[in-house]
Amino acid sequence: MEIFLAFPKSLVKQAFFLKSCLSPTLNGNDRNISGVILQYHSVVAEKKSSMAYISPSLSVSARDFDKQMLFMKKYYQPQNLTNFIKKYKDNAIGHRCIFVVSFDDGYRDNYIYALPILKKYNIQAIFYLTVDCIDKRPPWPSELRFLIYKTNKTLLNLSSLSVSLLVDDAANKESAYNNLKKMMVRMNCSGRESVLSEISRKAALKISDMKELDGLMLTWKDVHEMRAQGMEIGSHTLSHPSLPFISLDEADKEIRQSKDMLERALDAPVEHFSYPNPGDYLNFNKTLKALLEEAGYLSAATSVPGHVHRGDDPWALRRKGIYRTYSNLASFNFWVGRETSQYPPVIYGRGRE
Ligand SMILES: [Zn+2]
Repeated sequence: MEIFLAFPKSLVKQAFFLKSCLSPTLNGNDRNISGVILQYHSVVAEKKSSMAYISPSLSVSARDFDKQMLFMKKYYQPQNLTNFIKKYKDNAIGHRCIFVVSFDDGYRDNYIYALPILKKYNIQAIFYLTVDCIDKRPPWPSELRFLIYKTNKTLLNLSSLSVSLLVDDAANKESAYNNLKKMMVRMNCSGRESVLSEISRKAALKISDMKELDGLMLTWKDVHEMRAQGMEIGSHTLSHPSLPFISLDEADKEIRQSKDMLERALDAPVEHFSYPNPGDYLNFNKTLKALLEEAGYLSAATSVPGHVHRGDDPWALRRKGIYRTYSNLASFNFWVGRETSQYPPVIYGRGRE
């Protein structure tokens, strides 16, 4: 109730959105809503409420995911991304608002928990994979979070960054993680790797602890099976950098090589990309959009919250990030239907345009 009182204008917009979704056709002005792309990261078993490698908000329970897919099937029309892109470019959206389900990063829980639910509701999702992480360790922000949260040390003295960070309790661990992420997001892959290996040395985790990082990411076998079951595969770069902060050559390599490697492994075109977003940073720009187009992609998804409208830029598709906080179906419905346009709330650095 409070949330409705707090956002009366949004509620009107949401009612309009749902009305649009349920109306027989969506014609009219160019700003008509064509659909919504949901952005997930991780789907976990009910009892798993916190994991050191991922922020709890980024993992939804399998039960909530099931409820959310059932809800979406009821009020929206499921579509795979390739058909959605084609339809909205051709202005050929039909009766109901379309929804597309997307996953970033490539966690193995996508295969274990999300895939059976997607199959149950006959939904073809797109999985944007961090190619260097397939069959290997999770993307660097996950590994960083894991090391900081698992260490028994109270202080980390990092000579590579000339900083000392307190990691003696949960609050200090969270702030150390955020500070390190802010510093590391500006580095290229090799710079990040050397900082990460110093953190790993200083965090001095037991071998048994480190083993928890094994098996967290999809294997190539899983990826093949997901494709065989009708799922789409997209690129989320090779190493999960914030692309505006690395050199153009490195960004080009992340964009092209990830596509090539996926295409060679799957023997099929890979035409969709999602920009890694390791924090509240501007993670795409005009130059990157041009590189993607040149490399042969058809679309690129952002973490900017919002619906997809007719005429929107296919290289900057907005999505609705689905977090654990939307466990309640009413709040999920409210968030998915609510129009949002202001982003990003915080930009720590501009990077290269
Ligand atoms: Zn990501």
